[in-house]
Amino acid sequence: MKFTLKGNYFNGDFNYPSLTGPDAAEKTIIRECPADLALKLWECPVKYGHVEQVVQSADKGFKTWRALPMQERINYLKKYQEQVLAAKEEIATAIALETGKPYWESLTEASALASKVDVTINESLPRIKAKHIKDIMPGTQGHVYFRPLGACLIIGPFNFPCHLANGQITSALISGNSIIFKPSEKTCYSAQVMIECFHRAGFPEGVINLIQGDGEIGRRLVNEKSVKGIFFTGSKEVGQRILSSTYKDLSKMVALELGGKNSSIICQDTNIEHALNEMIKACFLTSGQRCTSTSLIPIHESILEEFLDKFHGLAKKIVVDHPIEYEKEPFMGPLIDQMSIDNYLLFVGMAKREGIQEIMRGKVLTKNFNGHYVSPSIHLAQSMDPKSHFLMSEIFGPNATFLPFKEIEEAISMANATEYGLAASVFTKDKAIYEKCLQEIDAGILNLNRSTVGASARLPFGGVKNSGNYRPAAVATIDACNFQMASLEISSDKPEDRTKIKGLDL
Ligand code: NAP
Repeated sequence: MKFTLKGNYFNGDFNYPSLTGPDAAEKTIIRECPADLALKLWECPVKYGHVEQVVQSADKGFKTWRALPMQERINYLKKYQEQVLAAKEEIATAIALETGKPYWESLTEASALASKVDVTINESLPRIKAKHIKDIMPGTQGHVYFRPLGACLIIGPFNFPCHLANGQITSALISGNSIIFKPSEKTCYSAQVMIECFHRAGFPEGVINLIQGDGEIGRRLVNEKSVKGIFFTGSKEVGQRILSSTYKDLSKMVALELGGKNSSIICQDTNIEHALNEMIKACFLTSGQRCTSTSLIPIHESILEEFLDKFHGLAKKIVVDHPIEYEKEPFMGPLIDQMSIDNYLLFVGMAKREGIQEIMRGKVLTKNFNGHYVSPSIHLAQSMDPKSHFLMSEIFGPNATFLPFKEIEEAISMANATEYGLAASVFTKDKAIYEKCLQEIDAGILNLNRSTVGASARLPFGGVKNSGNYRPAAVATIDACNFQMASLEISSDKPEDRTKIKGLDL
């Protein structure tokens, strides 16, 4: 299978950069399937000159789009919903082959696109409903209106190439913004298939825009004067770079959804079998390439041995294979690229050098297809050492490190030890422990008897500390897509008694 890229989408159509002549694309990105390196998926020409055209298109689109009544915007989103539903399998195939995620998991992501439209209309939209405060002052009505920002830039990561951007795009659109989507250079085709759904839904010219390319395209877009909203999902390092290049332009709203180093605390009263299922999924789904993947497992010392033994046994049963052409349906596909493999193996070596006990070695796997396959890794650390790079860093590979604790306070301080604060969970029957965790764990998400993965689109989703900048996504994305305009309204133009205005020498 080969995917054909159509170029960048602006002014209502795809524009393929020319490959020769003075106006030619500056470079070409070639993408191989991470599950089968012999399969070249596509070639993507990168045209920096298109940045300006895409921004102009989005500026134009904003002016027409914001003037449309809300019901019309909803109608367009409903048409888009029909299109993504119809294209579900095509989207899933694109996600599976570009990211290596098993087909069943890619289909879950593809199916979430349509349901997110309903969440946006039914649960996000009411958050920006205009408010009226009757008689806020004598003879005066008070109003709060929610106004769109302008052209909104959505920069996406590779691991959820459609679902995350889709959430930000639908919230930005329903609010009246135009959008520019810059996907990861590893997932250009998945992004294109999604944008084709907007195209077929017939959105007015300039409202929807897509530009393919590398980080430099993202860097240039971020600094464009008329880009007013920046919704970035990706690594802490790039997020910080975006913030430091934009902070002097106060007209820009920057929402950052960044990395995580997430803990799941297992208390001694936990149903071990339930927690085992949750932990296997939390640590190893998507080959550990989720911002919410559990990486650290503080566990009560009294159940450590039994739990670790069973967890190791289950981890050995994980099927790793090609996302589509498998012998047995896989739990995990490959990592995204060679750099991720190098990084993963680097961490495995680092754990050893730091004296952390290896229970199951993460190593490169040979499969039927030559791809970026690795096995899960399991470690046991005797304590939380803040100087340990292994324990403090986001690994973004299939890893799990157990840490024994005696008292819940120790477990909470383990969960709080890293620079990140995205997701955490606690497994216990004791509500008081849950309450304590809710109060003391610094994270945007804290689950009870449920792992850190699999967030609900109907709740806010975002982290604290170096995981984000207090602008949560999911149902709450819409809060960052608007500014609030206050209005005092005197409906009568009958003049007040001028003699009552103090200081006038009449
Ligand atoms: P990444 O390397 O930070 O890239 C994210 C996006 O930023 C890509 O589209 C990338 O383009 C672009 N980019 C790179 N340099 C840029 C620059 N200077 N200015 C503007 N944009 C730039 O992240 P990733 O490897 O794709 O994704 C993994 C990371 O995302 C992990 O840290 C994970 O935890 C995080 N993540 C967070 C969430 C959340 O909701 N909190 C969700 C998913 C993932 P290129 O790909 O073309 O370089």
